[in-house]
Amino acid sequence: NEFRVNNFGAGPGCVPTEVLLEAQKELLNFQGCGKSIMEVSHRGKEFEGVINETKSNLKKLLSINDDYDVLFLQGGASSLFAGIPMNLCENGVEDTVDFIVTGSWSKQATADGKYFCKVNKVVDMEKEKFLTVTEPSQWKFSEDAKYVHYCDNETIHGIEMPITTPDHLPSNLIKVCDMSSNFLSKPIDVSKFDLIFAGAQKNAGISGITIVIIKKSLLLKTKPNVPSVFNFLKKSQNNSLDNTPPTFNIYITGLILKWIINKGGLGEIEKLNIAKAHALYNYIDGSNGFYRCSIDKIYRSRMNVVFRIQDGNIELEEKFIKEAAKENITDIKGHRSVGGLRVSLYNAITIDQTLILINFMTNFYNNNK
Ligand code: PMP
Repeated sequence: NEFRVNNFGAGPGCVPTEVLLEAQKELLNFQGCGKSIMEVSHRGKEFEGVINETKSNLKKLLSINDDYDVLFLQGGASSLFAGIPMNLCENGVEDTVDFIVTGSWSKQATADGKYFCKVNKVVDMEKEKFLTVTEPSQWKFSEDAKYVHYCDNETIHGIEMPITTPDHLPSNLIKVCDMSSNFLSKPIDVSKFDLIFAGAQKNAGISGITIVIIKKSLLLKTKPNVPSVFNFLKKSQNNSLDNTPPTFNIYITGLILKWIINKGGLGEIEKLNIAKAHALYNYIDGSNGFYRCSIDKIYRSRMNVVFRIQDGNIELEEKFIKEAAKENITDIKGHRSVGGLRVSLYNAITIDQTLILINFMTNFYNNNK
């Protein structure tokens, strides 16, 4: 589409143009009901159709079996930093939770979680500036943890955990994973987790909806006296409809799931994501240090590529951002806590767009080396 820029933002990230056009097409008159999907009751048949189809398509795409339920919540992924210990730690701050701290988001989970549980950091990579992760054999779990929390993709630092990570966690420990920024970027084995959560605004939708996949046996172990908006069991028993859910957001997630199905599913999506990330990292690594990504190679994120120009030449980095904008390449400034550049290659970014970026980087290198 001629108006649209190449938006490499980290989130809310770009939404596939086809999805926006579909939403536009049925915006005023959803399936002939004479109203938009924003204007119907969450208990009516139109919305019931949307939520049930969205849930069942998500289950199909991720091969989620009947041992799990899917919840659609509000409050952002951040609300789960409190909501999870609230539900799982019946003795509050007397119950220990193990955290694997690999970047800002898992760190934030400990900062918010401490009001509802006792925080044990199994590993804390902050002293290594979150550039790598220590070997799983060195991780020190507590004996009595209620669960372990880790973040599969640290959006700010550009660190992604290997797909084998749950195999390195004690088998008897309940496994909770924040997949906000790599959810739906590849197939995953849901059966290796007890709870997966994701804010939708990267690959799975727009901000305002948080997706939770939770094992039913864990639901039955949740604490009863939790306020209803945070109460996982109550949400599950009411198909996430006990209070008004973010209806339009669930609808957009539904359209995105259909878009992924049309692309051939998560296996095909993953192939594209691998190709995009390889192309960009290979280019960066081959630039004689002009561009540099300092993240340990095995932990480099496919979704968020974090790098510097001339090891932190701020003037040149600012020039890069300005000149990129002239080429319709936008939202590439690194997070304020890290600096430098960050390019996010979410599902909606195409190989062609990645090549447009690499072409721009090549020209910039030739003009400024
Ligand atoms: N976890 C991760 C990995 C994230 O990237 C983010 C947001 N970018 C959050 C948690 C917090 O999500 P929210 O802003 O929806 O609360």
